[in-house]
Amino acid sequence: MKIWQKITRRLTRRSTDPHTPGKADLHVHTDFSDGLSSVMQTLDWVARHTDMDVIAITDHDTLEGSRLAQTLARKYLMPFEVIVGVEVSTADGHLLALFVEEPIPAGLSIEETTAHVAAQGGMSILPHPFSRTGLMMVAERYQKAPERVHDLPLAAVESFNGALLMGPCNSLSPGFAAQLGKPAVAGSDAHVHYAVGSSFTTFPGRTAQALRQALHGGTVRPVGHYWSPQAYFMTGVKWTVLQRHLLPLPRFSLGLPRIR
Ligand SMILES: [Zn+2]
Ligand SMILES: [Zn+2]
Repeated sequence: MKIWQKITRRLTRRSTDPHTPGKADLHVHTDFSDGLSSVMQTLDWVARHTDMDVIAITDHDTLEGSRLAQTLARKYLMPFEVIVGVEVSTADGHLLALFVEEPIPAGLSIEETTAHVAAQGGMSILPHPFSRTGLMMVAERYQKAPERVHDLPLAAVESFNGALLMGPCNSLSPGFAAQLGKPAVAGSDAHVHYAVGSSFTTFPGRTAQALRQALHGGTVRPVGHYWSPQAYFMTGVKWTVLQRHLLPLPRFSLGLPRIR
């Protein structure tokens, strides 16, 4: 089946009612960072198997996959828009930057990073603020210095992250967003294409521009569902294979000399 046929088939499943809220998945990874699916696999999945109107590709510390996705989506007249975005590894945890055009350096403080985003006319979203892995324990750091987070120019807080099946993040985040007086959004944090669209944010309108206005106006709503079992399984299997290949796991030693 040619791609335009697939897209046309999918178009017929999208609502044509202009009053139906739009749907956006604001947090998607590809193999330009630690995702497992190519940009084209991701776009094809969104076109054929979801009814997303907007997606943001937010690879870790690179805009390249996101830029490519936007170009391809326009070239092939995909029935959704792509926002250029990035998930920045700040010194204080991850930060989603949407509607950006230039790379944002990693490793800066969250204040410096949000200033970079704002200077480009972009929007900052705080993802998974209570995640307990890696650099992501953002909210806990903020709880020790709450004035920091209150002063940040955040457009929204990710109140539901589709990847985080375990841990308290998704139960604590909605209250955190409310406490800050920020709109709550949901994103899949997909690292494989099957997961894109599992969680999404609704907004009045159907375009990226309408989404932007809805973020400004606080008229976005989170809709949270976890990934499908297939998505968790594929991500687990592929990551295990990749990590064993890229980063050999420590092995038990029998005290014998290791031959290299
Ligand atoms: Zn993250
Ligand atoms: Zn992510």
